[in-house]
Amino acid sequence: MSATLPESFVVDAQGWVTAARRLASPNFEARPEGAVPTLIVVHNISLPPGTFGGTAISDLFLNRLDCDAHPYYDTHLRGVRVSAHFLVHRDGTLEQYVSCDERAWHAGLSNFFGRERCNDFSIGIELEGADTTPFEPAQYVTLVALVRALAAHYPIAAVAGHSDIAPGRKTDPGPHFDWFRLQRETGLADRYFPYLHPEARSRHTS
Ligand SMILES: [Zn+2]
Repeated sequence: MSATLPESFVVDAQGWVTAARRLASPNFEARPEGAVPTLIVVHNISLPPGTFGGTAISDLFLNRLDCDAHPYYDTHLRGVRVSAHFLVHRDGTLEQYVSCDERAWHAGLSNFFGRERCNDFSIGIELEGADTTPFEPAQYVTLVALVRALAAHYPIAAVAGHSDIAPGRKTDPGPHFDWFRLQRETGLADRYFPYLHPEARSRHTS
């Protein structure tokens, strides 16, 4: 097993992780009655695509992105209301935009082994990155601690990529994301990774 969970990676009673810089997004709503987070969804995002650094992702989640600042924003992001619970920057810095107890708007049209509306029952983690680029070691360090903290606090049953639950529509976190590393360093059993271990899928189909 990995080292002891850093004390700061703890989910508080309101669904916020103490280690994260808190930037409250207005883009969320209550989870449906009785819904609890059982799925973690891993994404990548960069704005403009392929460019790292800056505050554009944060600005997007806070509805203050200047859509005149780049043609991509103008074409794709004007009026878009999205969020994720977490963003892990290239240097491993962690930000949280929505309480894990609330429903963030990260997955869109999605299906987890027959169960649709994945935002209802998932926690979304964005890694600043692109499908064409390896992620930074510091991002894995943060992601591992975060996933372990979330799994300790919520009845998490699986970790999936956005591309797993929205195939054909989404490709993130992409081919450079090292699922085996995430599994190894979190110490989570095969059953948590049904897309990595097909024999574990029967646990998730009803
Ligand atoms: Zn995504």
